[in-house]
This record gives sequence, C-alpha cells and structure tokens, in this order.
Amino acid sequence: MSEPLFRRLALIGVGLIGSSIAHVARRRGDIAAEIVATARTDATRATVERLGLADRVLADPGATVEGADCVILCTPVGAYADVAAAIAPHLAKDAIVTDVGSTKQSVIRDVGPLVPEGVHFVPAHPIAGTEHSGPESGFAELFEGRFCILTPPPGTDETAVDKVAELWRRAGSMVEVMEPGHHDRVMAIVSHLPHLIAFTICGTADDLQDQSMKDVLRFAASGFRDFTRIAASDPVMWRDVFLNNREALLEMTQRFTEDMTAMARAVRWGDDAYIIDKIERGRRIRRSLIALKQA
Ligand code: NAP
Repeated sequence: MSEPLFRRLALIGVGLIGSSIAHVARRRGDIAAEIVATARTDATRATVERLGLADRVLADPGATVEGADCVILCTPVGAYADVAAAIAPHLAKDAIVTDVGSTKQSVIRDVGPLVPEGVHFVPAHPIAGTEHSGPESGFAELFEGRFCILTPPPGTDETAVDKVAELWRRAGSMVEVMEPGHHDRVMAIVSHLPHLIAFTICGTADDLQDQSMKDVLRFAASGFRDFTRIAASDPVMWRDVFLNNREALLEMTQRFTEDMTAMARAVRWGDDAYIIDKIERGRRIRRSLIALKQA
C-alpha cells in the first residue's frame, strides 16, 4: 500500500458524498492517515461515530480543519460562503481546500476570496451520486468508474491540483480538468435540467391525482417511475444547485421548452418523421452511454 496522500483529512459535512469519501478513505487506507469531520446536528454526529466514518467528529468547522492538510467541503453549495468564513482563520499554511459541489462558478465566487494566502483552493465535482442523502447513504464504491471534474482557477498551485486529482483516482474516478463556466453549462443540461424536469413532472402528476385522476400513482410503474427516483433527491441540495447555476439552467430550460413545443406540434400535426427522428436520437444517446460505461 502506498503512503497516505494526506496526514489529516477534514470533511465538512457528512452526507451522501462526505460519507462516501470517508468510506473509500477508510477502506483503502492510502488516502488519509486520519479523518476529522464536522457535522452540524447531534443526530449526524452520532451516526458518524456509530459507523466509524471519522477518527473525530466535531460540531465546530474551525476546530475540524486545524492541522488538516486537506479540507473537503461537502455541504450543499448554498452553505459554502458561511463554512468558508468559519474555517478560514483556522486553516494551516499550505493546506489544500477542495470541495464536491455540483456548481463551480458559484463556488469559486463564494469560497475563492475567503481562502487565505498560502492555502491552495482546488474546486472539484465528482460526477457520482444517488437519490439518497445523509450520512447513512454513503458507500465506498460510489466514485468507481465515474468522472471527477476539477476546475482550478488560473495560477492554482500544480502540486495541489495533482494531489486532489490523485485523491479522486484513489477513490476510483477518472479525472478531467475543465473551465468552470463550461462545467456549469454541461451540468445544466446533463444533471440540473433533468432534476428540474423530474421535480416538475411529479408536481404535475400529483396535481392530477388530487383532481380526480386517482390512478396516476397506481400505474406509476411506466416511465413516470424513473422520474420519481430522481425526484427523491434532497430538496436543500437541489434548491442550492438551481439557484447557484441560475443562468446556465435557465438557458437550458428555455432550449428544452422550445424543443418540447416543437415535439408537441409534431404530435398535433401527425409529423411522424419528426417524432421518429427524435426517438431515434434518444436511443442512440442511451446506447452510446452504455458503450462508455456511464449508463
Ligand atoms: P446530503 O447527503 O444532503 O448531505 C449534506 C451534508 O451537509 C449533511 O451532513 C448536512 O448536515 C450538511 N449541511 C447541510 N446544510 C448545512 C449547513 N448550512 N451548514 C453545515 N452543514 C450543512 O448532500 P450530498 O448529496 O452529500 O451533497 C453534498 C454536496 O455534494 C453538495 O454540494 C452537492 O451539490 C454535491 N454533490 C451531490 C451529488 C449527489 O448526487 N447527491 C453528486 C455530486 C456532488 P446534517 O446531516 O447535520 O443536516
């Protein structure tokens, strides 16, 4: 086994992503010699202790990062500015601050200015998740075979970037470096819009259920079921994603609305060539995802 990458890893927030990092670090042993975690509530701290996810779990984020050579922010992105302000005075010189947030421009905007001189900030986003949340939902294999995107601002220390990349490789991921604005646009279409659609369609179905279509949920086993799985995701996490990738998400929502109107028009006028073409494109995309092992 190689040397641990970090002496002391501090995890701020132990939900699905934070607990999965803890699991994989515990299982491998070569990511961190020691794990210290912050959890906000008594219930989460008790769960972290019971599952042995950290050597110590504290309520105070400042105390958690003291002496840590790597700090990973794992709360919803809307809490990042407050968390960064709380930990900033306690960060060790040469420490690396990284994160797992689903939006990257907002994270650079909110956290970047609060990172002290001599501390390296390497924003990251593991493209891995489930609809479950909380400290019990994590598992060591979550990141295996998935991408992790790093969006280091220009001038970021290369050794720090390499170390964060190595952390994710040891967690089983393939690492890509991307410009943060590009990341946010890509995520808006492949992740944020699908969640917005899922939450919306569940609301539409629920309204119909209330208004006499009592069978809507009884027969949900058709296409609707897949939407309900996505819609089971954590509300605060997703509210924060939507509000912190507002521009790109609104752009993709607008494009989608236009395309959906075009499809509805094809249905109204019986334009079967248009309908077949759209369905075939969907099938091709699904097949290519399976070929890339990202399905
Ligand atoms: P989660 O399971 O809901 O866990 C969030 C954690 O943050 C919990 O430990 C919670 O503490 C803590 N927390 C929430 N609000 C806080 C606040 N205001 N101050 C301090 N701690 C707070 O969420 P998650 O799925 O792990 O997501 C964490 C991050 O990963 C988010 O930034 C998200 O964008 C990103 N991400 C998520 C996914 C996904 O599919 N879920 C995938 C990739 C990246 P308590 O338990 O004490 O309430």
